[in-house]
Amino acid sequence: MKEDILHQITLIEKRIADACVAAGRNPQDVRLLLATKTVPPERIRVALEAGRTLIAENKIQELKEKFAALEDIPHENHFIGHLQTNKIKDLLKYNVSCLQSLDRLDLAEKLHQRLQSDNRTMDVLIQVNTSGEASKFGVEPALALDLVRSVAQLKTLRIKGLMTIGLLSAEAGKVQACFRLLRNLRNSIRAQGVDGVEMNELSMGMSGDLETAIAEGATIVRVGTAIFGQRPTPDSFYWNENTA
Ligand SMILES: *Cc1c(COP(=O)(O)O)cnc(C)c1O
Repeated sequence: MKEDILHQITLIEKRIADACVAAGRNPQDVRLLLATKTVPPERIRVALEAGRTLIAENKIQELKEKFAALEDIPHENHFIGHLQTNKIKDLLKYNVSCLQSLDRLDLAEKLHQRLQSDNRTMDVLIQVNTSGEASKFGVEPALALDLVRSVAQLKTLRIKGLMTIGLLSAEAGKVQACFRLLRNLRNSIRAQGVDGVEMNELSMGMSGDLETAIAEGATIVRVGTAIFGQRPTPDSFYWNENTA
């Protein structure tokens, strides 16, 4: 099991490096994030001990369950799932440094209130629904700039960029269109020069489409299956409005 994970990580690192070369980019500019939903802490630990540093959960419950088992090994936690406002307290308790799935103002406002009373800040990415699928979370592209402007008023939240889950499709052109949309949106928001907003990160691309995402400018790729294997739970459990 250990050798398996290590081998898969090597393969992913190679895919990232190759994609960067093909796109004329520096591999240092793309971070590998391990999407660890359903993965038990012993397996996550193998990846961390192999030198990976960035992991992310989709559900507060899983974050909570694995926290103690991984506490002693240095790493960074992001959160990439749909977050209910009543779980904000837990998000702050378990050392999440970046919320990548900020998709609505009421969540931002409640998070800001908490952070303010704790006297701390948090990095956030704005999640955008680039596929147009009703089942996917994220702000509509046309409303993203407005959300950025509103969130920028909340001084505990540091906007670093955008995140998306692209269309899961075998048609590369359609997947690419999602990632291109996110990049263009990032560029146009960046051109607005909103006070206090850094628009450098593009979190996009997963096991099946990371090359496409890197070609379109991804700075963070989020990989689960290709490293840890197939998950027992379907992704609809994590991604759909009805089940979240
Ligand atoms: C599960 C998940 C990933 C990783 O997907 P894989 O196809 O397993 O690589 C990336 N991003 C989000 C938001 C996820 O929930």
